[in-house]
Amino acid sequence: MVINKKGLLLVVSGPSGAGKGTICKVLMNRNKDLKLSVSATTRQARTGEVEGVNYFFLTHEKFNDMISKNEFLEYAQTYSNFYGTPKGPVMECLEKGQDVVLEIEMQGARQVKQIYPDAILIFVLPPTLSELQSRLSSRGTETEEQMQERLSCAFEEIKQIKDYNYFIFNETNREVEAAIEIENIISAEKNKAT
Ligand code: 5GP
Repeated sequence: MVINKKGLLLVVSGPSGAGKGTICKVLMNRNKDLKLSVSATTRQARTGEVEGVNYFFLTHEKFNDMISKNEFLEYAQTYSNFYGTPKGPVMECLEKGQDVVLEIEMQGARQVKQIYPDAILIFVLPPTLSELQSRLSSRGTETEEQMQERLSCAFEEIKQIKDYNYFIFNETNREVEAAIEIENIISAEKNKAT
């Protein structure tokens, strides 16, 4: 008898600058069978970012059109821009039994959990708040004002850790260890399901 198993939906979230993007990159490189969802956003592409790889860069009109057609699994406005997860590709992968990773901020993570209670929410924490500040300033992609906005959001976001299934610390230069922790979470969740 063939039992069709749905894939796992993993949501990697946490404050901007905690390093969730880097961890997800390492995780994807180590696990070619995992699928990283490509989000849509209304923000401007940064130097080096590629359409359809880093994001789908959309106009506000196109983004609103997708909202009205219910084409997002979740979406949120943050730092004056909209970000959203296109629903179709994620649901297709899950149906095929493929595990999917969303690397998104926390309003979106909560929406996903409401719509899809089986989603596994993983919170990535920086080792300290001063480390978070220095990571944000050293990456140099935000203005001083944008950085302050991201930092004050981080304080609020960290209070919401209780809504999450797991949390991991992203110690400096320990991204591989953090990715391995996520692999262990995946194994534990798969074992639970069998
Ligand atoms: P950035 O502008 O630095 O690429 O991303 C800003 C924040 O938006 C990050 O915390 C990132 O995880 C989050 N983000 C990226 N894609 C999505 C998405 O599809 N939905 C939501 N809710 N947040 C997203």
